Amino acid sequence: MIDEGPAPEEVGARGDADPYRVAVVGSGPRGIAVLERLAARLAARPPARPVELHVLDAVEVGCGRIWRTDQPSWFMMNTVAGEVTMFSGPADGRRARPGHGPTLAQWWASVDPDCPGPDGYAPRALYGRYLRFVLDTVEAGLPASVALHRLRTEVVDLVPDHDGYLLATAGGTRVRADRVLLATGHPRPRLDTEQQRLADFAATRPGLRYLRGDSASDMPLGEIQPGETVGVVGLGLSFYDVMVALTIGRGGRFEPAGEGRLRFVPSGEEPVLVAGSRAGVPILARGRNQKTATHTYTPRVFTTDRVRELRRAGRIDLRADLIGLLETEMRLVYYATALRLRFGAEVAERFTEQAVAAAGDGPARDTTARLAAAFGVDDLPELDLHEWSRPLEGRWFADPELFHAELLDLIDADLRDAEAGTVDGPRKAACDVLRDTRQVLREAVDFAGLTPASHRFDLVEWFTPLASFLAAGPPLVRLRQVRALIECGVLRVLGPSVRFGTDPAAGRFAAWSPRVGGSRVLLDGVLDARIPQQCLWRDTAELTRRLHARGLLTSFVNTDGGTAFDTGGAAVTQAPYHPVGTDGQADPGIYVLGIPTEHTRWFTQVGSGRPGRWTAFTRDADAIAEDVLSGVASGTRHQTPAGAGEAR
Ligand SMILES: Cc1cc2nc3c(=O)[nH]c(=O)nc-3n(C[C@H](O)[C@H](O)[C@H](O)COP(=O)(O)OP(=O)(O)OC[C@H]3O[C@@H](n4cnc5c(N)ncnc54)[C@H](O)[C@@H]3O)c2cc1C
Repeated sequence: MIDEGPAPEEVGARGDADPYRVAVVGSGPRGIAVLERLAARLAARPPARPVELHVLDAVEVGCGRIWRTDQPSWFMMNTVAGEVTMFSGPADGRRARPGHGPTLAQWWASVDPDCPGPDGYAPRALYGRYLRFVLDTVEAGLPASVALHRLRTEVVDLVPDHDGYLLATAGGTRVRADRVLLATGHPRPRLDTEQQRLADFAATRPGLRYLRGDSASDMPLGEIQPGETVGVVGLGLSFYDVMVALTIGRGGRFEPAGEGRLRFVPSGEEPVLVAGSRAGVPILARGRNQKTATHTYTPRVFTTDRVRELRRAGRIDLRADLIGLLETEMRLVYYATALRLRFGAEVAERFTEQAVAAAGDGPARDTTARLAAAFGVDDLPELDLHEWSRPLEGRWFADPELFHAELLDLIDADLRDAEAGTVDGPRKAACDVLRDTRQVLREAVDFAGLTPASHRFDLVEWFTPLASFLAAGPPLVRLRQVRALIECGVLRVLGPSVRFGTDPAAGRFAAWSPRVGGSRVLLDGVLDARIPQQCLWRDTAELTRRLHARGLLTSFVNTDGGTAFDTGGAAVTQAPYHPVGTDGQADPGIYVLGIPTEHTRWFTQVGSGRPGRWTAFTRDADAIAEDVLSGVASGTRHQTPAGAGEAR
């Protein structure tokens, strides 16, 4: 409960002309997107009644923690600037305003003569500046009857109060609100058993360190001393952040070494990085972007209609019902790309039409490949999602040198594929289908579309990491840097199925790959380079813990009566995403958007809208804005039925 305490400062106390108050908790991209849609709607129909928008963020109001503007410039986005916008409509030659404004690339070009253009990757801090510009534009575009208030503080509690809510903050200020958006983003969960074991081991041994996983700019990487041997858990996007921070960030530099390669010139301040993951290969590079910012892809086989039809027939099994369709869709692009390059667009189109017809009602692996061969392309490696995501599966290596030789070959092959591009490179063009069909997959899986077992084992544990590995990688320069660091010995990749453990006799950590002979290394520290996943019952945030304990936030349980998967994501209704409490009732004055709802919905880790069309990111924000403003007239809450699935 909120302690009434001695007269704290109170924002929006009752009686001051009774404005309609909206609190936005979290001003990362999700919170800002809702504010932009609120402002666009308010500007279009200025309210007669005063409205107050309260924006609260614990770290930096306007951009939030992940995109804070004081982080070093070596932390970069993974999305090209031309594909990023936080305005719900394009710039139209007039001043930027809610509903119309520049993409990140357009804004970047307007503030920096060295902007590399729409295919460049912006530093995260620069995206933070853009987000703050969006919030400033939102504020400037509000009608006279609407005021925006910014508060940099952590919200620690939220309780019902009269017809609305009362928010308590760490700073003591209280905020009253008629509607509350929880867009709290990336969590900081309690360590799991294995992580805790490593942390405890370090805690009792001076000089040893364990750094928990987080956004790399929030990790105390400065604690790592030059020359130390540090284990890095995970080879995903955060691995690249940590790698860059501990090399470029330590004064080392990469210089051209001919033939598109790089050479690393150390500063002497670097530690030695010993990294590993299950796959044993750093997440693959993004293809060189060849698509325009407004490019759209229309699936031919893995379509929304087909997925809806499957859903109508009952719960879906991802592997049995969907992966075949998705692979066929990818093969269409894979072979059509090669055919277009060799024989021209007309041949590629004929192939696609025949392949789609042949695919008929089901996946047609052999048909597509055979048809491509008949058209003249029979020399491409077979497209198999699992094999592509685990290129070292089943492989054993006698020693680390043999493993590294194989790894460098894989990296070179991926660099060639990435260089070939997202339109002209068959492999990267095919992998882009994984990004381009995310919304189709959401139609299949959101709100318990999959069986509980398929949800857990196929989607969460298998497909999501697989899709990240193949289609959500870093710019290709990062993989070139990995290559250079391996060659000069600053980075060692251990191999597949890597284990991190302790060696009490040596008083150090140890890491090894059971599939690479002689790979065991002793370590001075372990650094977890994985972004923590959503899990309500492990969340350490005071607000979340309280709302969970009180039953306002509940874990979404996917159940089919027999089996159940307790997901750890917040249970919410369909749009506009009200939380579903322990009693199964939705709270109609609260909205939960983005990462806290992961598992109820899929792939919520999205940081912007796309130019040219509304993606789910903007549609979600608008659905919430519309519902929020429906209360301006009455100010009262209304009843909303609970969503699919069960809440605990
Ligand atoms: C390191 C990293 C890099 C990424 N790069 C990209 C990329 O290049 N492109 C892309 O599309 N996506 C990227 N992502 C995915 C990412 O999920 C989104 O970009 C985005 O940040 C998510 O936005 P959000 O608003 O949901 O959450 P967040 O950005 O996490 O924002 C949530 C905000 O809520 C605040 N908050 C939380 N609790 C409270 C509280 N109780 N009181 C007050 N404030 C609170 C936090 O301080 C934070 O600022 C990246 C993610 C990470 C971690």
